[in-house]
Amino acid sequence: MIGAIIGDVVGSTYEFNNTKNYNFELLTPRSAFTDDTVMTMAVAQWLMDDPGHHHRTLVDLMQRFGHDYPGRGYGGRFAQWLHYRKTEPYNSLGNGSGMRVSPVGYYAKTLEQALELARVSAEVTHNHPEGVKGAQAIAACIFMARAGYDKSDIRAFVKARFGYDLDRRIADVRQTYHFDETCPGSVPEAIICFLEGNTFEEVLRLAVWLGGDTDTVACMACSIAAAVYPVPNELACKVFGLLDDRMRDIVKEFTLQCFKRNGEHADQWIANNVITFDNLRLTLNHAAKGYRQLITPHTISTLHPGEIFVFGSNLAGAHGGGAAAVAMSKFGAKWGVGVGMQGQSYAIPTMQGGVETIRPYVDQFIEFARLHPELTFYVTRIGCGIAGFTPREIAPLFSAALGMTNVALPMDFIEVLNNNE
Ligand SMILES: [Mg+2]
Repeated sequence: MIGAIIGDVVGSTYEFNNTKNYNFELLTPRSAFTDDTVMTMAVAQWLMDDPGHHHRTLVDLMQRFGHDYPGRGYGGRFAQWLHYRKTEPYNSLGNGSGMRVSPVGYYAKTLEQALELARVSAEVTHNHPEGVKGAQAIAACIFMARAGYDKSDIRAFVKARFGYDLDRRIADVRQTYHFDETCPGSVPEAIICFLEGNTFEEVLRLAVWLGGDTDTVACMACSIAAAVYPVPNELACKVFGLLDDRMRDIVKEFTLQCFKRNGEHADQWIANNVITFDNLRLTLNHAAKGYRQLITPHTISTLHPGEIFVFGSNLAGAHGGGAAAVAMSKFGAKWGVGVGMQGQSYAIPTMQGGVETIRPYVDQFIEFARLHPELTFYVTRIGCGIAGFTPREIAPLFSAALGMTNVALPMDFIEVLNNNE
């Protein structure tokens, strides 16, 4: 979702003031979320609230959100539909269906489900075949990107299924492009931005530089881009700051629910930066029930009292890089101390030779953890960074820690250990 929201917010300044400059200012004092973000929230809430995913609940939610966030640039007929609380669709082929659909792409378990939910999410208002198609195309791109299909597969599928012309370059398209808020006049272009850009920011810049309905094209393009590219942290933080608490909660909750459903985060940036460490850990443990095993989060940025960051070090205690540098800057590791507890961190040296030279230090750590049930230890992927070992080599050293209630292990260590059993 954060991708869609960033696209909307960045594009908002340029919708009626297209930029000729590719290196435009991403955020200006006037940048704000618009209808694209509001309706994206409604769809996310719908997916969470109504397991049956009925039309009626979506209509209610969209009208409630529209009421609660007035004046956000709703299109004419959509504004009437909101205002008069109509319940019938009005055969629109506008890109409103594509701008709000992205949560579907992150929520779906299969491509078929993505297409089906996209159809329902569109046809409450945009029941014109092109309106439905636009939503389905965006949702399919997100799902396929998440599922690891490469761009050539995505391009081929979208061309075959929806008949969009994706063999164009944005630099060429923009020569004659004009404001077009229909699906067929903006969804293919948004997909091309995704296909052409090599980073999240490139996709975003291409979409806004294209011109036209910039907030919506950028919203759609970036909703796909966020499925494969890291979202720039500073930009995401600023945009997240422009939302209100209710919206931020929806994004967090939706991210967690997608994790529970699919074992992956709908939004890596949200998971790493916004969901509190406690929440994330709890969710990971629920998701991994059956392991009965604490799992170390992918990124640890804060610790509560009694939580210990376990990292790979060297005997000299030169904590210059990788997790060691994090331990030093955030969790009290001391320069020159290569082994054991220091602040809220615990060092296990991994740089002194083969795997067998690490074993005694891991044994010593496990013994220490046993003696300190009041502490919870988060073992990071020690030895698998600068030291150059693989989880297959390192994980077996921790077999005695499997099932200890106060030791979290990285997911890929747990996988190795479970396969070895
Ligand atoms: Mg808008």
